[in-house]
Amino acid sequence: MYSANFDYHRPSTLDEAIALLSRHGDDAKLLAGGHSLIPAMKLRLARPKIVVDIARITTLSYIREAGGRVAIGAMTTHQEVESSPLLRSKCPLLPETAAVIGDMQVRNKGTIGGSLAHADPAADYPAAILALDAEIEAAGPRGRRTIHAADFFVDLLQTALAPDEILVEIRVGATGPKVAYVKTEQKASGFALAGVAAVVGADAVRVGITGVAAKVYRAAAVEQALRGQASPKAEAIALAAMRAADGVEPLSDIHASAAFRAHLAQVNTRRALERALGR
Ligand code: FAD
Repeated sequence: MYSANFDYHRPSTLDEAIALLSRHGDDAKLLAGGHSLIPAMKLRLARPKIVVDIARITTLSYIREAGGRVAIGAMTTHQEVESSPLLRSKCPLLPETAAVIGDMQVRNKGTIGGSLAHADPAADYPAAILALDAEIEAAGPRGRRTIHAADFFVDLLQTALAPDEILVEIRVGATGPKVAYVKTEQKASGFALAGVAAVVGADAVRVGITGVAAKVYRAAAVEQALRGQASPKAEAIALAAMRAADGVEPLSDIHASAAFRAHLAQVNTRRALERALGR
């Protein structure tokens, strides 16, 4: 199926892109890697009148150290995240997560900014971004602002970004090696039926879960159960993991029932914690 008609703009600077979004409001949509927007347009689930292609804004594609953190430009592809030596040494959870997104074509074209802005409830990065307690930088006509990961994902396909804002950068802290991402995927697409990102730090455990509910979430009950335990034993991990779907309403669709998703959340939480602690 073909998309509805639209006008196409290809700005070469961030300011031009922001000006286009300001001028066209809800009629405009940014195009990054196109691997979520184009399918949605072909299915007529999205019908933007104006498409603003930001692929040529080269200043949005980088991975670098900044003030003790690692800063990632929004247009950085999944493949670049997966293969980055800096991320592999400072924040290995992101390369591990990027490596299991879709297939090679998706990873070569899809961008971290596009994935986060799209906020698909089964996308992989959001779980990692929550577990990493990352910061997200948005730029718009009113200037720049920082949004904490915990405030970014609002609902199914909805984020804290305003329609005239562009996600420009993601910043993550160094973690050490005790991290893991474990997902059970929907076989045709690779999207998560339940994907669990775990970060085990010296003073806290953080767990982000995607694919299970209408929006990605931090498994607060799991984190609470493991509070104060730097090296929890297998039994404590198993008990904590049983609480992975506490307080959420699991999705049910043709790919998995709610009960199965809740079960996968528990199993993958245990596996992610065990894998992280074993590193
Ligand atoms: P686009 O499709 O270009 O944009 C997506 C949305 O975000 C649009 O609404 C756009 O306007 C908005 N947007 C884009 N960039 C910005 C920005 N910088 N600021 C504000 N808004 C912006 N994802 C997974 O996580 N796991 C998978 O296993 C997986 N499998 C896939 C399999 C297939 C076959 C396909 C086609 C996709 C799959 N995806 C998967 C999705 C893929 O990762 C997409 O690339 C990603 O979700 C969107 O990134 P994009 O750069 O392609 O964004």
